[in-house]
Amino acid sequence: MPEMPEVETILMDLKPLLAGRRIVSADCADPSAIKMPGAHGEFCRRVAGTTIVDLHRIAKYLILRLDTGDEIVLHLRMTGRLVYDPDGEQPATRERVALKLDGGGTLRFVDLRRLGTLHLVGDARRLPAIEALGPDPLAPRFTARRLRRLLRGRRSRIKPLLMDQRFLAGLGNIYANEALHCAGIRPTRRAHTITMDEARRLHRAVRRVLRKGVMHGGASTRTYRRPDGSVGRFQEAFEVYDRAGAPCPTCGEPIKRIMVAGRGTFYCSRCQR
Ligand SMILES: [Zn+2]
Repeated sequence: MPEMPEVETILMDLKPLLAGRRIVSADCADPSAIKMPGAHGEFCRRVAGTTIVDLHRIAKYLILRLDTGDEIVLHLRMTGRLVYDPDGEQPATRERVALKLDGGGTLRFVDLRRLGTLHLVGDARRLPAIEALGPDPLAPRFTARRLRRLLRGRRSRIKPLLMDQRFLAGLGNIYANEALHCAGIRPTRRAHTITMDEARRLHRAVRRVLRKGVMHGGASTRTYRRPDGSVGRFQEAFEVYDRAGAPCPTCGEPIKRIMVAGRGTFYCSRCQR
């Protein structure tokens, strides 16, 4: 599933291609992708003829702001992809929605498992799912002290808590595993037992792995591709994720794999306490 660094990469790739472009028409091959009152007919009508003013991101949501004040809010979920097709000739396989742009070029929303969603709203921040999001770990207001305050009084294990979007927005399985290794904290630790010192390390680690993910263009472990079809490179820099039995890059101990809250979890039993 694309996590925050993958969505950030898609955003950076698409911004120069889409900002300032006019949407000539919208095609909905799969109307179930559109989650709004009046659904796809209304979506196509309201989007056609508008200009994309700007693109931004809230956690894993990608937002296209239109000159009418409307915002297209996209969530890729498990297998969603955004493909920029410069020629705009043939619909892609598994295509759900296509936005045809002036001067040629089409943005295609492709989605094998069809779990991704698309909203058209006046203000993305008012979507209930976005209102419920926890803090953005890369925002300046997100400090180690704030993280420690959030952890206190939470009895759940640290890893599923880090992946809970209402607790912290943007981390999925890959980055939670990597951040906990980087911080030297075992994924099964109860959140409230984490000390101020460990919270400081975790805070730094979360930000570091997210930035590292962005620097590498995201992680292409399964279906994630950049809008031009190329792969991300962060999977080549994994320290624990998907490396069961391989040596820990810090101490050489074989990486262990366990299940925590139903998700494959990777850690070093020597470095992570
Ligand atoms: Zn180790």
